[in-house]
Amino acid sequence: MTAYTPMIQQYLAIKKDYPDTFLFFRLGDFYELFFDDAVLASRELEITLTGREGGGTERIPMCGVPHHAADTYIAELLKKGYKIAVCEQVEDPKEAKGVVRREVTRVVTPGTMMEGKWLTDKENNYMAAVAELDGRTGIAACDMSTGEMYVTSLVGHGESVIDEALQYRPKELVFCGLATIPKTALPHTVLDRNEIDAFAVDVQYQEQAKELDAVMRTAVNALLGYIGTTQKRSLAHMRLIKRYDARQYLQMDGFSRRNLELTETIRDKSKKGSLLWLLDRTETAMGGRLLRRWIERPLLRANELQARLDAVEALKGDLLLRSDVRSCLDRVYDLERLAGRISYGNANARDLIQLRYSLEAVPELKLLLKETKSPVLADLAAGMDNCADIVQFLQSALVDDPPISVREGGMIRTGYDEYLDKLHSASRDGKTWIAQLEQGEREATGIRSLKVGFNKVFGYYIEVSKSNIANVPAGRYERKQTLANAERYITPELKEREALILEAEEKMIELEYQLFSAVRSEVAQHIPRLQGLAERIASVDVLQSFATVSDERGYVRPELTETGEYVITEGRHPVVEAVLEREKYVANDARMDQQQRQVLLITGPNMAGKSTYMRQIALITVMAQVGCFVPAKSAKLALVDQIFTRIGAADDLAGGHSTFMVEMLETKHALQKATSQSLILLDEIGRGTSTYDGMALAQAVIEYICQKIGAKTLFSTHYHELTSLEETMSGVVNVHARCEERDGKLLFLHKIEEGRADKSYGIHVAELAEMPVWVIERARSILTGLEAGSTSAAAADMQMSLDMLWTAPAPVPAAVVKEEPTPLLTAEEEAILADLRELD
Ligand code: ADP
Repeated sequence: MTAYTPMIQQYLAIKKDYPDTFLFFRLGDFYELFFDDAVLASRELEITLTGREGGGTERIPMCGVPHHAADTYIAELLKKGYKIAVCEQVEDPKEAKGVVRREVTRVVTPGTMMEGKWLTDKENNYMAAVAELDGRTGIAACDMSTGEMYVTSLVGHGESVIDEALQYRPKELVFCGLATIPKTALPHTVLDRNEIDAFAVDVQYQEQAKELDAVMRTAVNALLGYIGTTQKRSLAHMRLIKRYDARQYLQMDGFSRRNLELTETIRDKSKKGSLLWLLDRTETAMGGRLLRRWIERPLLRANELQARLDAVEALKGDLLLRSDVRSCLDRVYDLERLAGRISYGNANARDLIQLRYSLEAVPELKLLLKETKSPVLADLAAGMDNCADIVQFLQSALVDDPPISVREGGMIRTGYDEYLDKLHSASRDGKTWIAQLEQGEREATGIRSLKVGFNKVFGYYIEVSKSNIANVPAGRYERKQTLANAERYITPELKEREALILEAEEKMIELEYQLFSAVRSEVAQHIPRLQGLAERIASVDVLQSFATVSDERGYVRPELTETGEYVITEGRHPVVEAVLEREKYVANDARMDQQQRQVLLITGPNMAGKSTYMRQIALITVMAQVGCFVPAKSAKLALVDQIFTRIGAADDLAGGHSTFMVEMLETKHALQKATSQSLILLDEIGRGTSTYDGMALAQAVIEYICQKIGAKTLFSTHYHELTSLEETMSGVVNVHARCEERDGKLLFLHKIEEGRADKSYGIHVAELAEMPVWVIERARSILTGLEAGSTSAAAADMQMSLDMLWTAPAPVPAAVVKEEPTPLLTAEEEAILADLRELD
């Protein structure tokens, strides 16, 4: 190491503490990267890799970015999941002896971004910590940009508990004390307990931490400690820790969330086309973020839901009021992130003006909400702090339209600070004097084109064109600069005034900056008030968003039942309906209960609308349980505690598992966790294997659900043979997606009706897909042959395998898989199978 130059030695000493992080090393106007960092960064950022002598035997790889453009490059690296340590020169190079002192002033990581330009308005930027202790797992998540922080703990460890952390869709994870670190593509850091205990945790939160159990506390400490070491700045806005119990919300695993496209579509992971997209008519960024949280965490308690539904009803019924509320909300900026920036000390004057405008909208909003008949809205209004003192303060301190920069003055209002006003008038007087000078000199010299100008190099001057030079009285001015067609002069008096003006301006800019910083610190004292207000405004915004969509799309208020009764009349799939042309969607009923109609067995050909129907029911449930009206003519819904889905197949292939394996994993999950209050959607279970094998599995699953779980279940299947279960098994009811044959062609009516489908339409579907005529004709003749001849043998065979299942102990799919591993399993699938066996 000694062979290196002192600067490179300094670099290496700093880099040692940030091994997994790009070190942006400030060198004059550039941030430079060296060694492996440089090689990787040049590739990731597509910038030129160069080299420099550093005293070692070889040239050191190097690349750099201009400091003023650094943010763009940092954003690029963050997006790719990297961390960046920004290392600044912390002394004036002119005063430095030897190498300039440098320090890492902040570490930017994907989970700790604060800057607006790196964030998406309506999305939180969470990072989460997962800690294990004595058989429990603690999960803490926070969004540094908004100051929110949540914590919970769960029994157990492994896959199902990690799901809780992943629900936040964190950009980054911190693990602590885990026996095995889960495989994750997310950037993550593993801390050991000693490291966490060494973190100095803020006093303000120590009080709250006392309320937490040990594992939650560890998770919170890990999170705050990690943030503290990376940010090196005030975290004052992260004050309130919200503890919750995951069981107080409707639970859905990762598979189901994705399947139902709650917040993003399966195909391209975009918000557009998701339930969130449909329901998002929020006016504020915080409303947008809260809506997402509500959709991800539907409620279980009827009274909380009724309160939300009351509010939606009140706002839905009064268009005028709602549009007034919306226009008030429209004036509110992102209070949560403003509060974050204020506390962080990187808010500018425009941010504070946005804060002022936002607060100015509050009194009117409160009045409007009080007019509604909803107790929830009235409560929200009553709880809203007008922050009149802050508004007044900001009105008196800052001008209405300040510049973005806080270093150029022009922010502070006249009358706020006496000394600043004095400087202003000194500068103004000076300028008036100069303006008058021009007129006076013109008269004195008789040169009408004489003018007084200013430039940065020479300051103020008097300019006379070449043709008039002869008319300048001798000794009146001092010559300063000669141009091609003019001469510039100064006078001692002019320079004296100039000095006064410039001095005043310099002082003004400095003073303005100080005054502004003080204003910002003063506002920072009130951050909890702003956060409380933001939260209430966000709730109002989500409720009006529900009301707006419900009104525009003709949704109805669901009636929540406690008897297990579940009846939807003329229900629609909210998203499919919205993207189809108007009136094209065929509404469908659904009737289920706890005894007679517990499993709906849905038959019908491909493309008939089975999975749309199943999704529609799940989405209506989710909508009702977030407090929104639902797309139906009427709906009486039993509250559901968990939703499990196994729908759609092709999309999972990207994950590297065979469709059948994914199907089995997801089904297993449902069978293990569902209760009699759950909703299970299973789409064509068993189709990935041979017919009898698949059919046997399908039947066994239905039996297991009916006899051991009692959950409401929608089960679509190709196996028409299964429809006979209706006769033998109480609780199973056949429905089918109706199709009609017209002129030998198949017509999908998308209508779900009672009873089984009477015919297999596969060949028609093949025809629709324009299969060669030869294949279609041949298939028809084979089918005819089959129907006439060998059906009885097949049926006997089938009955035998079903009989075996009847007498065998209730089979669980994993067990069946165990006995018959398909020869096509990949190595990875084998590994999953091994895991499965272990879990069971
Ligand atoms: P299946 O699951 O039976 O194969 P899908 O549910 O995937 O069929 O539906 C096939 C197509 O029919 C979908 O693209 C959907 O847009 C359309 N569809 C389904 N249900 C309806 C409905 N109720 N009204 C109008 N179109 C529908």
